[in-house]
Amino acid sequence: MSIQQNIQSIRAHIPPNVRLVCVSKFHPSEAIKEAYAVGERIFGESKVQEMCEKYETLSKDISWHFIGHLQTNKIKFIVPFVSLIHGVDSYKLLVEIDKQAAKVGKKVNCLLQIHIAQEETKFGFSPEELLQTLKTGEWKNLKNIQICGLMGMATYTDNHEQIRTELHELKALFDQVKSLYFSEESSFCDLSMGMSDDYQIAIEEGSSLVRVGSSIFGTRVY
Ligand SMILES: *Cc1c(COP(=O)(O)O)cnc(C)c1O
Repeated sequence: MSIQQNIQSIRAHIPPNVRLVCVSKFHPSEAIKEAYAVGERIFGESKVQEMCEKYETLSKDISWHFIGHLQTNKIKFIVPFVSLIHGVDSYKLLVEIDKQAAKVGKKVNCLLQIHIAQEETKFGFSPEELLQTLKTGEWKNLKNIQICGLMGMATYTDNHEQIRTELHELKALFDQVKSLYFSEESSFCDLSMGMSDDYQIAIEEGSSLVRVGSSIFGTRVY
């Protein structure tokens, strides 16, 4: 199937209140143009240099979402144009993003990444760490970032019940954090969860933002 057909069949499963991030990492700009041609405007990248190169050459009305593990020394390259950073996995990183954003007079949208999977390799705050970090209130002094919600990845497994349980817990944490710290802030509204293999479960469990790569663009060649 073509990229456009893939998008059509995925779109048929995504309700209008859920946004689709087309994860174009490791795929050429030509692939992005095909998705763009059928109306897609949000693209997700996981490497700073790759995202910057694509930003330079492609249409300026694209929203670029950074979904990878961000190194502090590279923040400055994406801050001028990034729409949303999904994977903020430490308080230190949040502070650094704030610093770089202040330098260019911007407010950068961020999601805090929560470790919900059983694998040890996935980055993120544990639920306890997140609650402790927010409790200090220090983050309120960071004027150049906006915490827009949470992001997480379920364990890579065929066990759908396990995936559902993990995503369900992430939604519960999101609701808890929203009511404790962000009840007055309409900008805290995004729960980024769901990938090619589990986006339908994620939508059922309350995702507002799904990140779909291989089901749109095919397998990646690293
Ligand atoms: C690569 C990636 C995706 C897309 O994964 P697919 O299984 O290809 O849909 C989604 N989220 C993150 C954080 C990723 O790194």
